[in-house]
Amino acid sequence: MLPPFIPDDQAPEMTAEMAAHLHCFICGNDDAYALRVTQEPLTDGKNTVLVTIKAAFCRFCGERVMDLRNNHRLDVARGQLARGEFDDFTPVGTTYQAS
Ligand SMILES: [Zn+2]
Repeated sequence: MLPPFIPDDQAPEMTAEMAAHLHCFICGNDDAYALRVTQEPLTDGKNTVLVTIKAAFCRFCGERVMDLRNNHRLDVARGQLARGEFDDFTPVGTTYQAS
């Protein structure tokens, strides 16, 4: 039996096996999560950055859980975006707004 995964600095990195045994506190299902790589959009003013993260998603309700490492990736990118530090970002196109 694996120790329960707690998404804080006690468990900096979540494995697929840890994710598979997570209990979902939103919908109440056991063994509910699967790890998936996804892109999280962060927006500040008119700028958006897509951050590639690995997160566990509940297959019943879609709730997302991330480990410390992936939370940190989002925090760093959010800070860079807010400060206008775009050097680490790659432009991927133009965002338009429909009228
Ligand atoms: Zn759920």
